[in-house]
Amino acid sequence: MRLILLGPPGAGKGTQAQRLVEKHGLVQLSTGDMLRHAAAAGTKVGNEAKTLMDAGSLVPDEVVIDIISERLDEADVRAGFVLDGFPRTLKQADALEGLLAQKGLPLDGVILLAVDDEALVDRVAGRYTCARCGEIYHQTKKRPKQEGVCDVCGSTEFKRRDDDNAETMRTRLTAFYKDTAPLVGYYYAKGRLRTVDGMASREDVAAAIEEAMGELKG
Ligand code: ADP
Ligand code: ZN
Repeated sequence: MRLILLGPPGAGKGTQAQRLVEKHGLVQLSTGDMLRHAAAAGTKVGNEAKTLMDAGSLVPDEVVIDIISERLDEADVRAGFVLDGFPRTLKQADALEGLLAQKGLPLDGVILLAVDDEALVDRVAGRYTCARCGEIYHQTKKRPKQEGVCDVCGSTEFKRRDDDNAETMRTRLTAFYKDTAPLVGYYYAKGRLRTVDGMASREDVAAAIEEAMGELKG
């Protein structure tokens, strides 16, 4: 399947995308991860993006559209993919539509993770990940079963994103409501949007996504 996970920062897009990779062999296409890799590698694009990301602002459309366009040319995406964090603006959504048509990979649908605003700041401020495998944890809501050891890969190193703090979160939420929220109407009008309750447990959200995928396939 070819899907978009849509939702504000902290809605659980990354967590659910990781699960779709494991369960269905989909490829996770996260522009946030791609930009963080570029920043860590110290490329020109990465360095420029880093400043904007740390402030909680969006990276220019042309930059992320280029990154996604190149990524979509790699052979693995033919198995199906889940876009997580892209598109984030109407311009990106239009560009994506053109790219997917051109590459013969039309979208099956869009799943919106709906979450209360109050929950988002807490989710993001408490979030950290395994430095080796990327498993997502939370200081109070999801700690490793054995303290300090990743459940998935056994690594003892964890990291936090530079932009995961309460202050930057306000800018990211503003960007979401101003630039990304219009995509909800855009995809609804195309008849391809399904909404799931992102406040439920990880397992229940996963089940609701499976149901939505069934509807989008049919
Ligand atoms: P979150 O959804 O939790 O905010 P992401 O990892 O998706 O996290 O994005 C982190 C940052 O990367 C964003 O705040 C933004 O600066 C940049 N970014 C990621 N994807 C895009 C995009 N499609 N368009 C513009 N900026 C993006
Ligand atoms: Zn791990």
